[in-house]
Amino acid sequence: MSVLTYPKPREAVPRPNAPKRVTILGATGSIGENTLDLIGRNQADYEVVALTGGKNVSRLAALARTHRAKRAVIADQSCYAELRDALSGSGIEAASGPDAVEEAASLPADWVMGAIVGIAGLKPTLEAVRQGTCTAIANKECLVAAGELFMSEVARHRTRLLPVDSEHSAVYQVLADSDVARIDKIYLTASGGPFRSMSRNDMERVTPEQALMHPNWSMGPKVTIDSATLMNKGLELIEAYYLFGLRTDQLDVLIHPQSVVHCLLYHRDGSVLAQMSQPDMRTPIAYSLAWPERMHAPVARLDLAKLGALYFEAPDMMRFPALRIALEALATGGSATTVLNAANEVAVQAFLAKRIGFLAIAALVEATLEAAAGLTTAAPKSVEEVLGIDQEARGYAETLLQRFA
Ligand code: NAD
Ligand code: MG
Repeated sequence: MSVLTYPKPREAVPRPNAPKRVTILGATGSIGENTLDLIGRNQADYEVVALTGGKNVSRLAALARTHRAKRAVIADQSCYAELRDALSGSGIEAASGPDAVEEAASLPADWVMGAIVGIAGLKPTLEAVRQGTCTAIANKECLVAAGELFMSEVARHRTRLLPVDSEHSAVYQVLADSDVARIDKIYLTASGGPFRSMSRNDMERVTPEQALMHPNWSMGPKVTIDSATLMNKGLELIEAYYLFGLRTDQLDVLIHPQSVVHCLLYHRDGSVLAQMSQPDMRTPIAYSLAWPERMHAPVARLDLAKLGALYFEAPDMMRFPALRIALEALATGGSATTVLNAANEVAVQAFLAKRIGFLAIAALVEATLEAAAGLTTAAPKSVEEVLGIDQEARGYAETLLQRFA
């Protein structure tokens, strides 16, 4: 089952000349803000139904006012009064709490952006899927933690799912009508992050501030740290496995420090298809927002003559073990990727809080997978099961943290 082979998605009932009704889950984040940047430049084409945020009330209120949203929802329950006051006189409904975020995803809309970071995005994104609303998915963690379940709901509700992660948007575009089973190989590219050519000795001492300085992309903190450890590419292989229904032997990674080529698709006849664009998330977001059409995106034109050459190298799994650990979890199957995701979320938070060092991120994830091996037998069949395994794995990771502190 994949976004390409599942039962044909039911397409929305046409609403001629009506603006596209959009909801953005995670509106105050990097993907959310980029999405609203595109919407703001084409105001007549869109109507904003709901915007949600985690804790940042003032930013959420400002975005809701600017884009004349019908509803603004803050996930943190304790922020309700502040949000209500910030929206007073605007006519915008205020709500708070995780259930209200989920409810926002269920409001009638033509397109929902899933841009919450981490497992917190699972329930709301699934709610959009279950409504059959065309869903653009940036929140890779929910595919890593619950890929099988998520894709079966996509199929059951015949929902159009559009990948937003740049590599997956690229694969979606080059796959077209290919028979996925007969594809030789798909390479996802990785920039290599800020420590691409650093020795493990030197990595021992890198600070969160250094790890947060991504050479090419401007993104939220979690995915930026994941890019520095290369766990991001591991999560993305798992994301691609579920999204496109690929076999593990069809998936590989290529380091490409310029982040211009986002994927390479090798066909059996020797033909190789690539997708290229500037490393600006507004291109893949625009692809999903305008789908099946194309819209103007305010991104710099890709000038290959100026670039001159494109560089590639093989990933080094000795220096970047996170990639190997993610691949092993995918091979283990069952709920190993649920555990992987939970442990990685704990490890990244701990690194950002300076509780563990950079190299301990992958080590903690690996130790958690070993400790939680008993949990990893069957793939979770319900959201409750996913969240149960996620909680247990976090418990293991928190306990093991002391060892790496
Ligand atoms: P971010 O941290 O900038 O934003 C995350 C959003 O989620 C914010 O609106 C935040 O308020 C909200 N949020 C956080 N915790 C929440 C909670 N518990 N409940 C509800 N909302 C919560 O992250 P981002 O960089 O925009 O990334 C979003 C997702 O997209 C991630 O899964 C990331 O891996 C993926 N992604 C991001 C990029 C990028 O360029 N930023 C590229 C590819 C994929
Ligand atoms: Mg990516």
